[in-house]
Amino acid sequence: MADIFYDPNLTQADRLVLECLEGDIKTRVERADTDRQHEDPIRADHLDRQNTTIATLNALNDPKSAHFVPTVLNGLDLHTQPLPKWVNRWLLQPYVRLAQPVVRHETDVVMFSHLLLYFTTSVPSALFLFWHFTWIHGIAHTIMQLSYVGTYTLMQHQHIHQRGILNKSFWLFDAVYPYITDPLMGHSWNSYYYHHVKHHHVEGNGPDDLSSTLRYQRDNVWHFLHYVGRFYVLIWLDLPRYFLSKGKTGLALKAASWEFTWYATLATLLRLNKHATIFVFLIPFLLLRVGLMVGNWGQHCFVDFDEPDSDYRSSITLIDVPSNRHCFNDGYHTSHHLNPLRHWRDHPLAFVKGKDLYASQHALTFHNIDYIMITVRVLTKNYRALAECLVPMGDQISMTMEERMAMLESHTRQFTEEDIRRKFPSKGQ
Ligand SMILES: [Zn+2]
Repeated sequence: MADIFYDPNLTQADRLVLECLEGDIKTRVERADTDRQHEDPIRADHLDRQNTTIATLNALNDPKSAHFVPTVLNGLDLHTQPLPKWVNRWLLQPYVRLAQPVVRHETDVVMFSHLLLYFTTSVPSALFLFWHFTWIHGIAHTIMQLSYVGTYTLMQHQHIHQRGILNKSFWLFDAVYPYITDPLMGHSWNSYYYHHVKHHHVEGNGPDDLSSTLRYQRDNVWHFLHYVGRFYVLIWLDLPRYFLSKGKTGLALKAASWEFTWYATLATLLRLNKHATIFVFLIPFLLLRVGLMVGNWGQHCFVDFDEPDSDYRSSITLIDVPSNRHCFNDGYHTSHHLNPLRHWRDHPLAFVKGKDLYASQHALTFHNIDYIMITVRVLTKNYRALAECLVPMGDQISMTMEERMAMLESHTRQFTEEDIRRKFPSKGQ
């Protein structure tokens, strides 16, 4: 069995989750040799460990607990990396007291920090480029925006699901700021909301989902290019057509008009100031759409052929640094599909509470790999690397590495239209 790797930059919550899962693996492996016929001691051990982890994760998230710690910056863990006393007293605590009433959840000081960051760097830099363009500034600006885009997009992921991230008394700014920052990061106005909340979560990677991976052989590069290409070239038409096919004419009109308004704005800006528009808006726009589809492929490339409509079996969980520390626990994608309104800090807790169900449903949990590398490893058919990143749960623990590789490969199999008719009878396809 491949060892569990603990990245030193894991969040504290992820470390606790991983330790809990590793404990379950060790108990099962050790007892399998010595105490084969007794399931009860294994069960008791699992429960003890689960309850301890749940209590610790609860305390970290509960503002009334002495152990509660808000997230202030993605890169900083105040639980494990205490700051010098004077920094804490004169800088950090006043900052937290200033930010907490502004954000919607007391944990989310980090979102205030990020808005500050974008409005003190991205916005003035973009304005300056439109006033006085230089190539070096244009390139540096685009690189800066690309370094922000993952974290920003997942912050906006909470915004679109919860209709805001700030305290209700700041509703106006909360509603308006995405119109400024979204295009700077490559999002056309409101498209993330209409595509993701009103369409992707409604369909859940099922046959009517425009971003569904079902009809593709997920380890085939040509299929992947078709998937990205279709979205890239036709989503402006496909999304309104999808809403029309569901009888949601209002949503079709809104999605189309926002998208076309953005295209018209982009065309106007290109005429007014070509170079600044290319670096500030066009390059981020063209790159983000590839990134979104690479991410979606990674999130939904493993689909269990037996039950493809189960959230446990059509998505995965990642315990890794880029997805969870820097992208607001985006690795807990199954947990997110189970409850799209769940707050990002609650995902590790929900996962540990439900881990027996995850195990019984043969859900897949990986560590030390992000969605982009999941996509790369699948497309290069490197099932060994993927199997080594698997954190086995339940029956997966007794599988050999070769069995895990074969299991993962079988989950990338393309569904034919006949398969889809059988597996999704309610769709009446
Ligand atoms: Zn979502």
